[in-house]
Formats: sequence, C-alpha cells, structure tokens
Amino acid sequence: TFDVHIIGGGLAGSEAAWQLARRGAKVRLSEMRGGGDTTPAHQTDGLAELVCSNSFRSDDDEKNAVGLLHHEMRRLGSLVMQAGEVARVPAGSAMAVDRDVFSAEVQKALENHPNVTVVRERVDELPASGLTIVATGPLTAPSLAQSIVKITGEDRLAFFDAIAPIVHRDTINMDICWMAARWDKGGKDYINCPMTKEQYLAFHQGLLDAEKGEFKEWEADTPYFEGCMPIEVMAERGVETLRFGPMKPVGLDNPHWATPEHPNGRWPYAVVQLRQDNKLGTLWNMVGFQTKMKYAEQVRLFRTIPGLENAEFARLGGMHRNTFINSPVLLDRQLRLKGAEHIRFAGQVTGCEGYVESSAVGLMAGMMAAAELAGETWTSPPRTTALGALLAHVTGDAEADSYQPMNINFGLFPPLPDVKKKARKEAYTERAKADFSTWLASLERVPA
Ligand code: FAD
Repeated sequence: TFDVHIIGGGLAGSEAAWQLARRGAKVRLSEMRGGGDTTPAHQTDGLAELVCSNSFRSDDDEKNAVGLLHHEMRRLGSLVMQAGEVARVPAGSAMAVDRDVFSAEVQKALENHPNVTVVRERVDELPASGLTIVATGPLTAPSLAQSIVKITGEDRLAFFDAIAPIVHRDTINMDICWMAARWDKGGKDYINCPMTKEQYLAFHQGLLDAEKGEFKEWEADTPYFEGCMPIEVMAERGVETLRFGPMKPVGLDNPHWATPEHPNGRWPYAVVQLRQDNKLGTLWNMVGFQTKMKYAEQVRLFRTIPGLENAEFARLGGMHRNTFINSPVLLDRQLRLKGAEHIRFAGQVTGCEGYVESSAVGLMAGMMAAAELAGETWTSPPRTTALGALLAHVTGDAEADSYQPMNINFGLFPPLPDVKKKARKEAYTERAKADFSTWLASLERVPA
C-alpha cells in the first residue's frame, strides 16, 4: 500500500518522491525504463537520467534566476541539488555534474528510503482515484499521453529540442585549442577551438549545405524552443547569428595567437566551446551545438573545426520531441488537474523547461501532496521567489493561447521598476531571499 503514486522516475518524479518520503508519506514510484520500455532520448535505466547537457546552469544565487532557484531548492532539502553536489564537475560559475554519478546518487537515496518503492512498470492510464503525481516528462509514453488527452480534452502540443554532440577529450588537438573561460572568469574550464574569418565563413556555408534529418509528418510546423535551436537553423538566420550566439569570441584571448603587441593572445573571429561532461574529464560536449544534421554530415563538418580534425564523438547531436500540457488552463494553483483533483502534474510535462525547473516543480508537487495528505493548509511560495515565480508561470500567469515552455528568468518575477537597471538582478535576489525566509518560517512542518 502507498499514499501517493508517482508516475515517472525522472528529475521531477524523483524529487517529488523524496519530498514526500521525508515527510513520512509512502510512495510508489513507477518508472517504465528498466521494465522493458525506454524513450527516444534516455540511454540508461537510472532514475533522474540527464538526457542531454550535464549542466544545471548558473550557480550564482546573487544575480541569476536559476542560481536563485538552486539556493531555494537547497534550503528545502532537494535531493537533486544534494546529488548534484556529490556529482559536481568543474564548470566555472555554472553547476555541472557527472551524469552517471548523479543518477546513481538519486537512485541510491530513493531505493534506500523505507517510504519509497520503485517499481519498473509503464503506466498507461491516469489512475481513477488516489493521490497521483504525473511526472512523465517531455517523452511521456504515447499510451499515457493518449489517456491524458482523453481526460483533459485538450490536444497536447509538440515541438523540437535538440541534442549537442559529445567529444572524447583525448581526440582534441590542444596545440590548436586552449582552456579558458570568457573574460577569465571562474577558472579555465572550457576548451576553445579558434576560427579565422575564412574558416568561420566556410563553416557557416557548410552548415547551410549540410544534409538535415527528415521531419516526420506529425512533427512538421512545430516551433523551436529558442534556447535549444539547432545550429543549422541559427546559421540560416544570417551569417553573423552564430558569432553572436554559441560561437561568440569576445573575452577569449587565444594564447596560441600571442604576438609581442598582444602577449596574452588575441580573440579569434569565432570560437567553438566545449564543456566537461563527466567527472573523469574524458568527455566534453560542444556548447550550444544541438543539431538535426545527419550523423555522417555532423562528423564531416565538425572535423573541419580547428582542433577537432581528429575528433571522435561519444555521441552525436539529435532531435527530439517534447510533450507538455496547457497547464495555465488545465491546472489549479496547486498543480492539480481541474475536475480530477487527485491528479497533480510535475516536471517538464507542465511546460516548464530545463532540468532544474523540472526538479523544482517536482519538489513543489511533492510538498503540496504531503500537505494535502496530512490535512495541512498549503501556502505556495510567494511570487517574488524563484519557486513562486515558476509556479505562477505554470499555473495561470502565462498566456494560455501562446503557452510555451520557459526557463526560470527574472522576467517571471514581479518587476522592480524603481531600482536602477544595473542593480536590479541583485535586488530581485535580495527580495526573493527575504520573502523565501519568511515563507519557510511559516510552514507548518519542515523536515530535518
Ligand atoms: P524526465 O526526466 O524525462 O522523466 C520522466 C520519466 O518518466 C522518464 O524516466 C520516463 O522514462 C518516464 N515515463 C514516461 N512515461 C511513462 C509511463 N507511461 N509510465 C512510467 N514511466 C514513464 N533540459 C536542460 O536543462 N538541459 C538540457 O540539456 C536538456 N536537454 C534535453 C534533451 C532532450 C532530448 C529532452 C527530451 C529534454 C531536454 N531537456 C533539457 C529538458 C528537460 O529538462 C528534461 O527533459 C528533464 O529531464 C525533464 O524532467 P522530467 O522529470 O519532467 O522528465
């Protein structure tokens, strides 16, 4: 027997299970991977597998919205943040993790918890009764997606994200590349591949000419999420677009190009940056290089990048679909499905975007369900906090007609027009921290 059924053992489902379990609730966590199923993006059976980048993005909790979200989640005893700390790899001011260590930590914590039962099974129907959290992610099994559509009566939406390639470190030529972070900030954590103007123009043309993967009929006419746009689509927007995006060279002195006049080196015309992808430091991912080019084309074209002439790829880029519901219309302020309030939704399927955001919505869903179970009054975190801003976006503040997945950003916070622009980020985070502390102190029960 169990108190709450969580469907999906990804980031959101794992975090929700943890928050419930540590408040004494018995959880059944159903995960279809390991039970004979998988998704187009997952490669293991591990709970909380990171399917693409290994980054939780900025860890700066004084000026950055996602860093602030990290801060709030840590204060609520987040399992994702705890496991992330154990699995951490160097990434400047960002928080990046070894994906295998991370997943293993999450799985160990849940499997060892007496209140959690992990069951490797696919769930095809939304349960008719009993507290439920649906956290099946952007690649929700089609059978369950059908069941959701049947109950919600609203059509689900689909659009593309894309996966960036991963390169074996020992196949990168460091006589050409160099390690540095932009403006020398936060260590020398990135590998940079320098391009001259001629090399950049040829590469840009190569992107335009490359053979791309086919769109399936049901995928046609679906918009890209701006933050995850394939490089070839960026290239199509104009010859300079990449130089102002992932291939931006500013603040990156290439020491291989040092001269008596420029002893520290000079900025290339464009760069390709790689970021450490695993704890061992053997795998590096090409930052911002998600793509839907054919595999053979990727290998051919990426080996024209200076320093990657002999690159071996651990994984090539790819496309994937994304399933999410129209939450502002369908869910109440406690993430419950209107008309079937025993069911909560959490994670990316609610239309938030990103590992951290998905985990954060899972965290809140877990806390809400725990409060409901214990008969406590639930007060959501205030709108001025990162958690509150995210929750508000998902559950009703967004335009339902044009609802799109969204990363946390200060644009979701109540504005501070009287604060000078330069000081605004600090002001948002200061206000958030103060209001969060007040809210935290008001909770009826805070587990150790
Ligand atoms: P998931 O982590 O996907 O968890 C859902 C789980 O539910 C899965 O384990 C799945 O197997 C299981 N499941 C599905 N259906 C059923 C069912 N019927 N029964 C039982 N189990 C089921 N975000 C980033 O921040 N950075 C990135 O680089 C990034 N890249 C992405 C790349 C891809 C290919 C995709 C699809 C998404 C990416 N995202 C990225 C977005 C998002 O952050 C992740 O998808 C994140 O894992 C979402 O967390 P989740 O818990 O909502 O879903």
